[in-house]
Parts: sequence; structure tokens; C-alpha cells
Amino acid sequence: MDFLKTRYVPMSRRRRIYEGKAKVLYEGPEPGTLIQHFKDDATAFNAKKHEVIDGKGVLNNRISEYLFSKLNDIGVPTHFIRRLNMREQLIREVEIIPLEVVVRNVAAGSLSTRLGIEEGTQLPRSIIEFYYKNDALNDPLVSEEHITAFGWATPQEIDDIIALAIRVNDFLSGLFLGAGIRLIDFKMECGRLWENDIMRIVVADEISPDSCRLWDIRSNDKMDKDRFRKDLGGLIEAYTEVARRLGVMGENERPTGPVLVQ
Ligand code: C5P
Repeated sequence: MDFLKTRYVPMSRRRRIYEGKAKVLYEGPEPGTLIQHFKDDATAFNAKKHEVIDGKGVLNNRISEYLFSKLNDIGVPTHFIRRLNMREQLIREVEIIPLEVVVRNVAAGSLSTRLGIEEGTQLPRSIIEFYYKNDALNDPLVSEEHITAFGWATPQEIDDIIALAIRVNDFLSGLFLGAGIRLIDFKMECGRLWENDIMRIVVADEISPDSCRLWDIRSNDKMDKDRFRKDLGGLIEAYTEVARRLGVMGENERPTGPVLVQ
């Protein structure tokens, strides 16, 4: 497959495979590929809160591209192939495992609420949690027992997912630390990638300030979607700062503007 020569297909004629809250998946140029399009929609509390924030999709596309490329570089398998334009990336088609895998280093969010642990408390070790991806049920927390009993993943697949989550967490914690940012927690999704008769679990979806908690190392300022969830304002400024610190966007580059379709 030659991923470098991507056929130009006008957006209106592309087949839409799936539309989520913040992204759309279109049929890709080659069999086994998809195009992942980042929208500007911000949602929280299972879409009860919704806003369109100009430029968010562009920033998430760039940040997620950067993080997935780095993961690919160190041999963590992901669905990411390459970025196509300001809002889109070419990805491998995978069978998404219906779990949100959350890795936590510091107490925050639902962990703090559920267990009464003060936000900002360093956890004795990184904690991995599984949530069942189901909007109608509000993505409930589930155990490995639930996952295997209901056939969402096998015990071997859970082992692979945990091994991936630990690697991703260690790598991203160091990468963000180098940019003066604490990785408090993040959510990742995994998919089954079939190559001939061999199946591998790979990291899928996105990793961006929408799906991570990122705090400035000195001030503890929030640089992630909690700015939207908690009505703190300044979301685009915070995401732009994350991109700038990672060296993803040039000083004078703006997240908004015309969408370039290659
Ligand atoms: O809300 P909670 O504390 O469980 O979130 C843990 C982490 O997972 C946060 O970084 C949050 O942004 C992310 N998350 C997500 N999508 C969800 C739920 C949580 O990206 N549906």
C-alpha cells in the first residue's frame, strides 16, 4: 500500500463511517484506512454541555499527530499513519475495543469525587481503570471480570492493553515533563488491527488535551479540557501553549484559518 500518494477526494463525496462528539471518520483512500477529522465541538458530561470552540480541532489534530508519531517512533503500535491537513489524519482501520482505558498518576476528576481523594494528591502508583464505552449508560467504570464475562476483551487482550497503557503513560509523562507539564491522567482507546491472520492491539482514537489532564509544572494551571468543563475560559490559549511547548506549532502559527485539503 502506498500511503504517500493519497487520492484527493472532495469532502462532500467521501463516505462517512462514523460521527462522534469531536471527530468524524471517513472512508480512507486505500482499503484498511480511514480519515479521522477533528471538529471544533467541545462536549462534557456526556454531551450535556456543548460548545463550538474555533480552532480546537486544528490544535488536537496537531498535538495528537505529534504524540502518536512519537509513540510509533518508540515502537508502541498505533493506528496513526500520517497527518493529511489541518484537521485530518490518515489512520489504519481497527476494530475498536469498547473500553476507555484511563491511566492516573495524580488524583483528579472522577477519582477524587468517587473516593474523596483531594485533587492534586500524588497517587502511590499509577492506576489503570476501565470504563465501558456506552453513552446511554454514561460510560460506567467496569472491572476485568465484567470485561471478560461480557466478551468485550479476552484476558490476553487485557494484559496487552495494560502493558500498552503503562508504556504510553511512562513515555508521555517524561515527554510532557520535558515541556514543563505534569501528566495528571489520560484516557486512551485500543483497537484490534488485523494483518493477514495476525491480530495486534494498537493505540487508537486521539491523545490530546481533550483526553488528558495536563497541569503546568510550576503554577498547576490547567492546560486541558477541564478549562471547558469547569468554565475557566482560555481553552484555546491553553491548548496553543501545550502545542507551543511541545514544539508542534510555530510561534506565529494560528490554529484557525482555511482548511487545506491535500
Ligand atoms: O473524568 P475522569 O476523571 O474519569 O477522567 C479521567 C481522564 O480521562 C481525564 O483526562 C479525561 O479527560 C479523560 N476522559 C476522556 N473521555 C471520557 C472520560 C474521561 O477523555 N469520556
